[in-house]
Amino acid sequence: MKKIAFILMISTLCFSACRKEVCENPFFCKWDTPYGVPPFDKIKFENFKPAFIKGMEEEDKAIDAIVNNPGAPTFDNTIKALQYTGDLLDKVQSAFGVLNSANTNDSIQALSKAMSPLFSKHRDNISLNEKLFERVKSVYEKRDNLTLNPEERKLLEDTYRGFVRNGIALKPEDKEKLRKLNQELSLLSLKFAENVLAETNDFNLVIEGERDLAGLPEDLKLQAAAAAKAKGMKGKWLFTLQAPSYFPFMTYVSDRELREKMFRGYMMRGNNGNSHDNNEIVAKIVKLRTEKANLLGYSSFAAYVLERNMSKNPETVFSFLDEVWAAALPVAVSEAKALQEMIDKEGGKFKLEPWDWFYYTEKIRKEKYDISDEEVRPYFAVDNVTKGMFYVANRLYSLEFKERNDIPKYHPEVKTYEVTRNGMHIGILMLDYFPRASKRSGGWTSAIRPQHIDSEGKQVTPVVIINTNFNPPAGDKPSLLNVEEASTLFHEFGHALHSLLSNTTYQSGVSRDFVELPSQIMEHWVLEPEVLNEYAKNYKTGELIPAELIKKLDESSKFNMGFITVEFLAAASLDMEYHSLTKPTDIVTADFEKKTMEKYGLISEIIPRYRSTYFSHIFSGGYSAGYYSYLWCEVLDADAFKAFKETGDIFNKEVASKFEKEILSRKGSRDELEMYLAFRGKKPGIEALLENRGLK
Ligand SMILES: [Zn+2]
Repeated sequence: MKKIAFILMISTLCFSACRKEVCENPFFCKWDTPYGVPPFDKIKFENFKPAFIKGMEEEDKAIDAIVNNPGAPTFDNTIKALQYTGDLLDKVQSAFGVLNSANTNDSIQALSKAMSPLFSKHRDNISLNEKLFERVKSVYEKRDNLTLNPEERKLLEDTYRGFVRNGIALKPEDKEKLRKLNQELSLLSLKFAENVLAETNDFNLVIEGERDLAGLPEDLKLQAAAAAKAKGMKGKWLFTLQAPSYFPFMTYVSDRELREKMFRGYMMRGNNGNSHDNNEIVAKIVKLRTEKANLLGYSSFAAYVLERNMSKNPETVFSFLDEVWAAALPVAVSEAKALQEMIDKEGGKFKLEPWDWFYYTEKIRKEKYDISDEEVRPYFAVDNVTKGMFYVANRLYSLEFKERNDIPKYHPEVKTYEVTRNGMHIGILMLDYFPRASKRSGGWTSAIRPQHIDSEGKQVTPVVIINTNFNPPAGDKPSLLNVEEASTLFHEFGHALHSLLSNTTYQSGVSRDFVELPSQIMEHWVLEPEVLNEYAKNYKTGELIPAELIKKLDESSKFNMGFITVEFLAAASLDMEYHSLTKPTDIVTADFEKKTMEKYGLISEIIPRYRSTYFSHIFSGGYSAGYYSYLWCEVLDADAFKAFKETGDIFNKEVASKFEKEILSRKGSRDELEMYLAFRGKKPGIEALLENRGLK
């Protein structure tokens, strides 16, 4: 007996010891976290590189197995099998992507840069694998004789087209050229992003005397004082180019020279002639992208990109943008006139400049609507706005959200929720609200594990992260949002719902100019009185937002829309022009931008929402020839929200379930126009958009 016990004990010891050894790298073990969320608490920096390497090796092996399959190519042994290669690599890249975007450091950035050419080579090895393509092509050519469901059919077509778009049909020497271009482009994009981050972090405006801050609300002063103190400058005030610091400064500080200084800091990012200058990087990216498109047989990079979008071609996008320019520019011109009148009325003897726009706009808003951000913010504590969006999701889709504290986080500030419906687990949602030096700016949502059915036929539930950069809480005061920020949160939540309610077999991407429909439609609920009455409560007193304020919010919601539309159109047009060059050209970035803006008649008081040297969406963020998408999608979301409004019930369950069934649950498994028509029965025009923005 004793002997047996001893053996048992040894084997237990060995078992746990062996297991520990095997599990030294969490990527090589099964994750026993709730719902298989990445064990962020256990993943160490040094785990990534070996996991990347092994992930690529495993994928290579899986691809070899498909290629060397002695059986004739079928949908299952080729197209479906391809969907399940690279699981490990996906897992590692997702976890790494989370850290690199929201909790990065020098080592992570260096590894990202070092791995980038290897990843690009790895992807090319797959997409330029001729034997693999032969099998895909053979299935593709038989497609009309196969019994495939619509999702399988689309997957087959997308897979085939993906190979062709990646250069499989090119001559060997051109394939080599393409590989080099891809590697170079991915490095340039990384460098671009790094420069923007460095230039954003490097600019600091330190104010020594409080009288320079006249106009700035007390709360914002305290915040700037705290920021200065944290950097060892007690008794001073620190302002940065992060949105929560920059925009209030531009909106309230009455000292015109200081506003100009701040504005120049912002609009000159990546354009200062230092080691973080992005001018040449932009020119190189544009040239190489054109070269790539030409090599693949497309007239321009835009033509190459848009083929896969709902818009299909550059001509459609240009004529759409033109139509909106025509409606918006005169409105922006009249807004500029009103601002100049305000300046003159106050006795200011100067011409309106871009650094005056926010400041005088705020004054007019106050005069016209008697409403200010500061009056609104107390009703929009971030936790209350979160409750509001959960409420909407509950009314529309019967979803429930429960905070969980037993799930690993990649940063202590993250809040984690389990999402259920009728008691059934739907997915995990993480919310990461506040800025950090280690986090990129803006708002974004990522499904770090997208919903799908795995190779064993099991349902994989989604894990989704929302990142924003709101004012952090200060002392007893919670983070208080303005209307725009509250809309941003609803917007990102819309992306999250798209991932959470996805119900497909395979993972598939949604095209750029459709993917903002699920997000932007959510913004329509944020100021609906029925919704405000649920969540907009004063953080101090708990008092509900007054009806009078709701009325003012509604009346002022179309204010300044000429400016907002034009600064957007300027950036979208700049993006389209860069990517519509038909042959590789050596451009001078600053000249190109200037000439393009002249061509569109942009007025000098407005600059593009993003200037070239910090236009991360298009030079490092995957939105090249795609920035127009937000506005394009607004055509769809304005029209889709009307479907709710027309029934007289913004929570109409029937419309909601149709929206879920025909659009949200399908993800990228169906043609976009087909999805929209199935939901709405007709194609939308731009009227709902213009109405929505008060540009009619
Ligand atoms: Zn979005």
